[in-house]
Amino acid sequence: MKPVHVIGAGLAGSEAAWQIARLGLPVVLHEMRPARTTPAHQSGDFAELVCSNSFRADDPQTSAIGILHREMRRLDSLILAAADAHKVPAGGALAVDREGFAQHVTQQLEANPQVSIVRDEIAGLPPANWDQVIIATGPLTSPALAEAIRGLTGEADLAFFDAIAPIVERETIDMTKAWFQSRYDRVGPEGDGADYINCPLSREHYEAFIDGLIAGEKTAFKEFEGTPYFDGCLPIEVMAERGRETLRYGPMKPFGLTNPHEPGKKPYAVVQLRQDNRLGTLFNMVGFQTKLKHAGQVALFRTIPGLENANFVRLGGLHRNSFLNSPKVLDARLRLKAEPRLRFAGQITGCEGYVESAAVGLLAGRLAAAERLDLPLEAPPPTTALGALINHITGGHIEVIDAGRASFQPMNANFGLLPPLAEAVTAESGKRLRGPEKAAARKRVLSARAAADLETWNAAW
Ligand code: FAD
Repeated sequence: MKPVHVIGAGLAGSEAAWQIARLGLPVVLHEMRPARTTPAHQSGDFAELVCSNSFRADDPQTSAIGILHREMRRLDSLILAAADAHKVPAGGALAVDREGFAQHVTQQLEANPQVSIVRDEIAGLPPANWDQVIIATGPLTSPALAEAIRGLTGEADLAFFDAIAPIVERETIDMTKAWFQSRYDRVGPEGDGADYINCPLSREHYEAFIDGLIAGEKTAFKEFEGTPYFDGCLPIEVMAERGRETLRYGPMKPFGLTNPHEPGKKPYAVVQLRQDNRLGTLFNMVGFQTKLKHAGQVALFRTIPGLENANFVRLGGLHRNSFLNSPKVLDARLRLKAEPRLRFAGQITGCEGYVESAAVGLLAGRLAAAERLDLPLEAPPPTTALGALINHITGGHIEVIDAGRASFQPMNANFGLLPPLAEAVTAESGKRLRGPEKAAARKRVLSARAAADLETWNAAW
């Protein structure tokens, strides 16, 4: 049987190769390190963690990433097995001894008779006689391969610079202060003139916000991030440094908006949030890309009226990152529409984080194996953490064309990616829950639904 070729033995590629091999199919795993490395990797080990050693929260009752851990363990993930074997104390988080973890992954793959390892760079399109390929070369894909991929997808479809605005869970926005309205009540192709959530700032709020922005601690650019800013996506703190009023004439302009909570009073400035997923559970802060440190962002953005209790499912940032415009260029089985023998996995597909990258690798491996075995495998349903992630990557994301590119951005697993519950969550007594009690109960119900739906999907495989 012809092997599946996996390019890149990072988090995603290692997991993909493992999943294919455990089904008894041959796989060739290509890794360019140590002969050629990336600006962030330091060793020749597979699945090297380039920054933190944390796989984040492990509890599936309280966190979406915990649900993803549970699903990956259930599906015999190599990455989760290695993490569990090399766990270090970290409260409720799953953190690992990075060297032990990476060596475990490397040794398991080296010892597997189905896996052939080739230490080489794939410096262009994979040879035409490789009929099934998984490209898992990560956010720092080598330039020659990145160039070849760009040739297949079109220049705008492989970003090399990532300007991210924070994303907020819709349920946590205080609508007694904020309101829905499009600027000048403009009606878009599918809209009704009320597409945006608006948060009003008084002059005092605005002045304090600008002071906080200028004083806030910024993340330093890493050496390899010497890419210039894109036109039109300057960080908000850079705009504020150019003049205190710049933001009021930019992303915070108050024009064309009427606050129904304070009739007759014009807001001094407004922060707008735009729907970010089809479900309408997530909203991004329009034009709010920033290099402020994450803790500072949360504190500062919670001074904005309506966002005092906001839950940020991702924070702003600017860094180099190669990822596909996946909703446009990939099909539901992670294959490139323009050349379906090429399947993608890991951060290059537009997920974010170690665990998410490995999770997409897991699915890419299973989907490739199923195709080899002629089995009709679909991704799990979006009510599972794995399915929600794939749904975000391949189609669940609303395509807002912004400066010629869809607004698709890499994302961590989070509860906002799961379809909302059909019924309100109540206490066992039937009593209506409120506040933190309601939020905790909702997570438990979403977690139970994910567990049941994963079992149903897995039973069919
Ligand atoms: P990688 O793990 O990067 O694996 C890609 C592999 O492909 C590498 O081994 C590379 O050597 C190889 N490769 C590349 N091109 C070729 C080629 N042409 N031929 C052969 N091999 C090739 N996420 C977190 O959860 N926590 C963090 O703290 C964190 N910090 C990050 C810091 C930086 C600087 C970056 C860039 C990302 C960070 N991420 C973090 C995001 C993300 O989780 C990691 O990048 C993660 O490693 C992505 O997994 P991956 O498998 O997609 O890519």
